[in-house]
Amino acid sequence: MKYISTRDSSNQCDFTQAMVQGLANDGGLFVPQTWPKIDIKAMSEINDYAQFAQNLLQPFLAESELALDLEKICRTAFDFKIPLVELREQTAVLELFHGPTAAFKDVGARFLAGCMQDYLMKNPSGKKNTVLVATSGDTGGAVAAAFYGMPNLDVKILFPAGRISPRQEKQLTAWGGNVFAFAVQGTFDDCQKLVKETLLDADLKRQVNFISANSINIGRILPQMVYYAFASSAYFKKHGAAPGFIIPSGNLGNSLAAVWAQKLGFPISQVVLATNANSTVLHYAQSGRYVAQSTVATLANAMDVGNPSNMERYLNLFSHTEFTQKLQVFSVDDQKIKDCIRNGESKWGQVWCPHTAVAVYVREQLKSPHWIVVATAHPAKFESIVEPLIGHAVPVPQSLEQILKKPSQSQMLQPDLAQFRKYLL
Ligand SMILES: *Cc1c(COP(=O)(O)O)cnc(C)c1O
Repeated sequence: MKYISTRDSSNQCDFTQAMVQGLANDGGLFVPQTWPKIDIKAMSEINDYAQFAQNLLQPFLAESELALDLEKICRTAFDFKIPLVELREQTAVLELFHGPTAAFKDVGARFLAGCMQDYLMKNPSGKKNTVLVATSGDTGGAVAAAFYGMPNLDVKILFPAGRISPRQEKQLTAWGGNVFAFAVQGTFDDCQKLVKETLLDADLKRQVNFISANSINIGRILPQMVYYAFASSAYFKKHGAAPGFIIPSGNLGNSLAAVWAQKLGFPISQVVLATNANSTVLHYAQSGRYVAQSTVATLANAMDVGNPSNMERYLNLFSHTEFTQKLQVFSVDDQKIKDCIRNGESKWGQVWCPHTAVAVYVREQLKSPHWIVVATAHPAKFESIVEPLIGHAVPVPQSLEQILKKPSQSQMLQPDLAQFRKYLL
């Protein structure tokens, strides 16, 4: 299997190269060149998640040097439960938050970390290996957890000091070992700028092998197809109907994985993008013109994106007409998110996180049956929003509890490369 850049289909490489490069050298994003033929019926007989993942992803890693290690990588990445919980009114919820940092990003980050570790073992860089991430919330925690404890590699996380929730901060600063957190005195954009400056610095690059773990990496998108394929197969087997997925969306990586699973032939009737007040995608759907907007802060902060990075992959895949035929897009404001969380227990018997609430609101607007609402984070991660609305405490899952008990450690940093440099070498 080859991967091509969205900007130039003659720019090709295999999975390993696409993963290591992160971004294609022409600035485009990697997408699969062809779509393998999958035996959907045979796949639906597999009940073990890791085995299912291995069979599904095997053609995508074919001819890559990691192909033979896929089984091991899948066993480590898919080692927590991903339950499909049936509610009422032919609606189910796909709980993607049972991983180490209680959000769906654990799946992609753990698969990518497994692949990277394997790659570095086979191709030692001879330099210090550093995963560098700027984060505004969930990504940094998932990446830290996934790469924590790996030999010959460290993780440096930049977060905007005082601008993330205390529990999100804990998930960045409480690891120790090979994970270092920097509290940048500035905004998320300052953090991102510092990462870019670092990656452009020839002197640093000579001494350090920087590894990209951001969410446009193909190594994070591909494994996310697995839970859509598995859940739709299981639902179809039980109900004899193909479900639609309603997906809380920001950078559109998670929904793209659902669209790819649909393209492979899995029984998915529709993919619905549930966005917050950041309505760039809705405007594109309505007007056919893509205009990036500045980001609006909302209660669903992991979806506060005005210029979704995976839009480039969507525009490469679909014309505007196809986009509107294949996808429905909704934009949900904070007031509706609050109402949805407040009524969650009486309406659905569930406590929703603010991101999942966006999708639940959309579900309540839709008529036809057979919907799977995608729950992207555990509500306990956002207790300061959720608890006042439901009027009681949210029990903390065990994985989160463990990290909350550990002491925090972070380094204050001015958004200044000269200062950051000494921590990188
Ligand atoms: C990152 C994130 C999203 C948005 O996912 P995209 O792939 O960027 O669309 C939604 N919910 C939660 C909890 C997240 O952390």
